Amino acid sequence: MPEVCGIIVAAGQSSRFGGRAKVLAALLGHPVLEWSIRAHAACEAVRQIVVVGQREHRAEIELMLQECGAGGKASVFAEGGADRQASVRSGLAHARGDLDLISIHDGARPGVSASLIEQVAAQAEVSGAAVAAQRVHDTVKRCTTDGVVEETLDRSRLWRIATPQIFRRELIVRAHEDSSEAATDDAALVERSGHRVSVVEADERIGKITTALDLRALEGMLGGESMRVGFGYDIHRTDPSRSLFLGGVHFPEGPGLSGHSDADVVCHAVADGLLGAAALGDIGRHFPNTDPRYAGISSLELLREVAARLREAGARVINVDAVLIAERPKIADRVDEMRARMGQALGVDVERISVKATTAEKTGPAGRGECMEAHAVAQIALCSAR
Ligand code: MG
Repeated sequence: MPEVCGIIVAAGQSSRFGGRAKVLAALLGHPVLEWSIRAHAACEAVRQIVVVGQREHRAEIELMLQECGAGGKASVFAEGGADRQASVRSGLAHARGDLDLISIHDGARPGVSASLIEQVAAQAEVSGAAVAAQRVHDTVKRCTTDGVVEETLDRSRLWRIATPQIFRRELIVRAHEDSSEAATDDAALVERSGHRVSVVEADERIGKITTALDLRALEGMLGGESMRVGFGYDIHRTDPSRSLFLGGVHFPEGPGLSGHSDADVVCHAVADGLLGAAALGDIGRHFPNTDPRYAGISSLELLREVAARLREAGARVINVDAVLIAERPKIADRVDEMRARMGQALGVDVERISVKATTAEKTGPAGRGECMEAHAVAQIALCSAR
């Protein structure tokens, strides 16, 4: 297995992206740069991650590295230079000396996956230099500067060059030392030094974000595979001696519910649905009812903890819809309060949280007032699911 230092270049000025730093723009709820960091963190061959960014983004990028679990890979921030080449050189200066391969990846290509990095690294180990690239499906013509076609190129031999671009260390270090002229990618510097560069085919998800429209297109491509839904269910017996909490709101009229925590059946169904969407098991696994830490705890605390575990797993809450089944109390007047409290605990806008209720028409145990039940569905967006 090759050992790779992964340099992610994210110091560009985003001049065609409306002034904002495109690497920090949200793609399906996660910063564009986070997608690349997570792919590198998930790639076994990558032993160190160096993110080259603008100085003003340092704190944000370091937090991102920490949250993505990249800390285990000795991740480090490097300050960008005046142009792309200077930024790459800054990254190279931070690369660990014992890693044989250097990968250079553009932080504006969030569709990179751990498996693509691995494929390019495997090829670079053989040939010394390899780049991810897409086949060209359009007809490409070379034209004069005043727009007259000179030649139709043979598209079967044309590739759109992307990243990661992975090189043997001495090759890329020397190419950067020797280069006096600018190049639009690192492979071009290596080509000038006379070394062969291999291409590894990648699909259209490896495209680069330049404009806001590119961002929307990538959301379309990555959205289908990163959206997950989960289903949650819970039931608690009524216990008039206890206080009633539903969706984090206290209902003094009761009746209360029996349970180890505050027995908030709505919060529990929501937590279960969210954990299920991320395939993280059920609420009992995370908060065992034998653990004295959770005795009498507010279930909003459990939701906060669930949100933290989802973030660790690279998941973001898209929306939640919960239904309470109970003969009483009437919750209609307090639904917005329940939504606000649960939204706050999960760190999402209240518009993303829905709570409804129904009676059981006096049928079954819920209808006889012996228990309350709740169902919930939850949707999340996963970052770098591949
Ligand atoms: Mg429960």
